[in-house]
Amino acid sequence: MSWHILGVGALGSLWATRLARAGVPVRIILRSSQRLADYQRAGGLTLSEVGESSLHAIPAELPEANTSIQRLLVACKAYDAEAAIARLAPRLANNCEILLLQNGLGSQQAIAERWPQARCIFVSSTEGAYREGPLQVVFAGRGQNWLGDPNGGSAPVWLDELDRAGIPQIWSTDIVARLWRKLALNCAINPLTVLHDCRNGDLLQYREQLAALCQELGTLLEANGQAPAATDLQDEVLRVIEATAANYSSMYQDVRLGRRTEIAYLLGHACRSADALGVAVPLLHDLHDRLRKRLSLRGLPTD
Ligand code: NAP
Repeated sequence: MSWHILGVGALGSLWATRLARAGVPVRIILRSSQRLADYQRAGGLTLSEVGESSLHAIPAELPEANTSIQRLLVACKAYDAEAAIARLAPRLANNCEILLLQNGLGSQQAIAERWPQARCIFVSSTEGAYREGPLQVVFAGRGQNWLGDPNGGSAPVWLDELDRAGIPQIWSTDIVARLWRKLALNCAINPLTVLHDCRNGDLLQYREQLAALCQELGTLLEANGQAPAATDLQDEVLRVIEATAANYSSMYQDVRLGRRTEIAYLLGHACRSADALGVAVPLLHDLHDRLRKRLSLRGLPTD
C-alpha cells in the first residue's frame, strides 16, 4: 500500500525521501501543474543531511488524480491543511488513515470532524527541517515523532515501515496531552521572542512575565482536562529557554522572513479554548492582541 504525501515542503520532503530511500511505496501530491512541471524538471526531491545531498525521484501527482488514497500524510501548515485535503477528498478510501503533522491544535480536530470516515492520527514532531530551495530540504535537527489516535485503538502495523525508513516514532496513548504541552511551551516562549525582538535566551530577563503566563497556561490545561500536561510547566519553559538560548524561535524566524505564522493554532487556540470554557486568561489575551498588532504592522496575516 502506498503512502501519499500532501504538502511537500520541509517536513513533507523529509518524510517522503526517507520512506522512498527505504523502498517503501510513496507518492507525493503537488498543488498545481506548474509545481508538477518544476518537480519533473528538477528530477526529484533533494535531501541534504550531514553535508551529503541525495536526489529522490519519487512519483508525483496532482490532487485531482483518480487513484484512491488509503494512507495520507498531511505536511501542510496548519492554516492550509483542511483546504488541501478538501481538494483530494473524493479520492479518500472509506477506511483511510490521515496522519496530521501540524503544529498547535485546532486544525487536526477540524479535519477529524469533517472526514469522520478516516482514522486521523495526530503527530507531534521535534524533528527539524528547512527548505534550502524549492524541492530541496535540509535535515537540520534530529528529534522524535509521537503518533497517536485521540479516539484510541491499537498502534498501526505500518509503524515498522517508519522504523525501516529511520523515521523515529513512538506510539502515544496521550497524543492530545502531548500536543497541548507543546502548545503551552510555544505560547510561553515564541510570542515573547517576537514582541521583544530577541533570541530565546534573552527571555530569562522576563522571568516574572514567564511565571505569570505559565500560571495561566496551567489553569487552561487543567480546565481542558489536561492536568498532567500542566505539571512543572514553568520549569520546562525555563529549561527549554536555557537549552535553546542562542536560537531564534520558529515564530520569530517566520516573522523576520515575512512568512505567515501559525498563531491561530497556537496562542489563538489557547485564547479561544479559554473563552469557550469560561476561563479567565487576561495575560494570554493581552499577549495575543499585542502579537496580532505586531504582525499587522509587518503586513502579515493576524490569523
Ligand atoms: P512548509 O515547508 O511551508 O511546507 C508546507 C507545504 O505545504 C508547502 O510545500 C506548500 O506548498 C504545501 N501546500 C500548501 N497548501 C497546499 C495544497 N493545497 N496542496 C498541496 N500542497 C500544499 O512547512 P513545514 O515547515 O514543512 O511545516 C509543516 C507543518 O509541520 C507545520 O504545521 C509545522 O509547524 C510543522 N512542523 C515543522 C517542523 C520543521 O522543522 N519544518 C518541525 C515540527 C513541526 P508550496 O510550496 O506550493 O507553498
